Amino acid sequence: MTNAATLDPDDLAFDPDALREKYRIERDKRLRADGNEQYLRIAEDFAGYALDPYVEAPLQREPLTDEVEIVVIGGGFGGLITAARLREAGFDDVRLVEQGADFGGTWYWNRYPGAACDTEAYIYLPLCEELGYVASSKYAFQPEILEHSRAIARHYDLYRGALLQTAVTALEWHAGSARWIVRTNRGDSLRARFVVQSNGPLTTPKLPGIPGIGDFRGHSFHTSRWDYDYTGGGPDGDLDRLGDKRVAVIGTGATAVQCVPHLGAAARELYVFQRTPSSIDVRANRPTDPAWAAGLEPGWQRERMENFNVLTSGGIVEQDLVQDGWTEIIRNLISTANFRGTDIPREEVPRLMELADFQKMNQIRDRVDEIVRDPATAEALKPWYRQFCKRPCFHDEYLPTFNRPNVHLIDTDGRGVEAITAEGVVAGGRLYLVDCIVFATGFEVGTAFTRRAGYDVTGREGRRLSEEWSDGMRSLHGMFVHGFPNLLITSNAQSGFTTNFPHAMDERARHLVYVLDRCRTDGVRTLEATAAAQDAWVEEMLAASRFNEEFLASCTPGYYNNEGQPNRRSVQDGPYGRGPVRFFRLLERWRAEGGLDGLERR
Ligand code: NDP
Repeated sequence: MTNAATLDPDDLAFDPDALREKYRIERDKRLRADGNEQYLRIAEDFAGYALDPYVEAPLQREPLTDEVEIVVIGGGFGGLITAARLREAGFDDVRLVEQGADFGGTWYWNRYPGAACDTEAYIYLPLCEELGYVASSKYAFQPEILEHSRAIARHYDLYRGALLQTAVTALEWHAGSARWIVRTNRGDSLRARFVVQSNGPLTTPKLPGIPGIGDFRGHSFHTSRWDYDYTGGGPDGDLDRLGDKRVAVIGTGATAVQCVPHLGAAARELYVFQRTPSSIDVRANRPTDPAWAAGLEPGWQRERMENFNVLTSGGIVEQDLVQDGWTEIIRNLISTANFRGTDIPREEVPRLMELADFQKMNQIRDRVDEIVRDPATAEALKPWYRQFCKRPCFHDEYLPTFNRPNVHLIDTDGRGVEAITAEGVVAGGRLYLVDCIVFATGFEVGTAFTRRAGYDVTGREGRRLSEEWSDGMRSLHGMFVHGFPNLLITSNAQSGFTTNFPHAMDERARHLVYVLDRCRTDGVRTLEATAAAQDAWVEEMLAASRFNEEFLASCTPGYYNNEGQPNRRSVQDGPYGRGPVRFFRLLERWRAEGGLDGLERR
């Protein structure tokens, strides 16, 4: 384990200056002037890639024009947790509106083979104690997580009144009646006193703007719309229709890391096109010990979530309850505990953290050498950047897949795929003939909220959210917006971000339910953020991010740093920079004060 004592600069087994320089060179290879613009607008040009392949029974129904108290947009974890907490607080008249044919959000869409949660399932699956459920393994696979989403909906009776296979197309505030009008692609115009938006952070699949991408005559799909009719098999693998197929995967992020082992096991030939390698740490998944599960005491899930959150935010806990790759990495890299009780001056800490990072990434690179037999392939699979420049990955079968004779890593040395033709994929000046292209190219981040949501919001006096946020998001705590009464938002933006997303969703749900409950008891008709409170929160967002600016700029491009172009807007639209522990405490204090400070009520 890394700690301050093993990081004596005079006694290192590596040269920090050489590594820093190597990281800079690798970053510079990947920087490109078009940044986030390199990706296509899928909704406009390639809408077929976003269609739902999982619908069993296409919905036919008449448009609705009725009224409910609260509409929740989004039936993923965020919407489910919020609706569940609302039901617990006695709000019965709640309607979920969801684009998919069922609940689950990201776990509805991402059914690619091998999909599983990367955060421990005991803390990642929401509302486990409420449902009396413990996941079957430390990291649960997609079918179990989707089923758990359905179980939450059944437990809280959330199917009642829900509108599935329904996408919101517009939200309009009607001042006279103090109601939102929610318009949908099914012709509905629903009325609601309050609207909760839970649109999700990574929902709009994106395609790279590779020349010729529309010319390919073989089969292709995005990982979040997996075509099992073509590949055969299912989320557990066994892709039995690929035995005679040459398959290309474009992308090597967290999604590709999980599906490549299954493609490698099934395809006649698999070509993995890599621009930037991911960092692949140990996964060590294991079945749940029934005796351990039976012995869990009431309050166990909350305690475990908080323990993980404090630890992964750099705080100190007596015992690491989760003990996995996340807690190990973060404890070593950022824990102030490493420096407590030592006489290391504060200003030395960032440099020591950098050394710890080098050491950790050396370990990741050594792991590649230990597993991958071909030295050139192993070299190409090594990531050269600091650990949190990109999403760390954990997998025990991804790297061994490159030892298969039918699996070929096509490393593009940071340049990416050059072109796509009718027959295949071009990289390094060579055409690879393939029958199928799987785009593991991720989701839109950093584009306008209203573009990702797929609708605009018209608030008081005709204000449009797309215009109000054209220079960046403006809100109080990421949840309330001036000029948009009775609109409540749950998202990472301008809010506390944790590795364990559902934890933050639950904290926000409790906060929103508190505010709605106060509206009920105080007889509030409308409420919105004051302009002053919103301005102050935006200032605090910008101030809180400063310590992170240098780090982001030094990173290889990716969605964490606005594709290598971190700027005021990407920071303003990002999560709260002082971390989730501070953010959750801030919300708790705000509630304890009881004055709904910064919210204008009528
Ligand atoms: P990412 O955005 O992380 O990865 C996209 C990949 O496509 C990158 O490897 C990128 O390369 C590559 N790419 C883009 N354009 C090109 C091009 N022109 N040529 C070649 N390669 C290209 O998407 P993912 O779907 O993998 O993951 C998105 C996020 O979803 C994760 O970060 C994580 O938060 C979440 N996720 C979580 C999982 C879990 O919890 N288990 C599993 C999967 C995803 P480059 O890196 O150079 O940009």
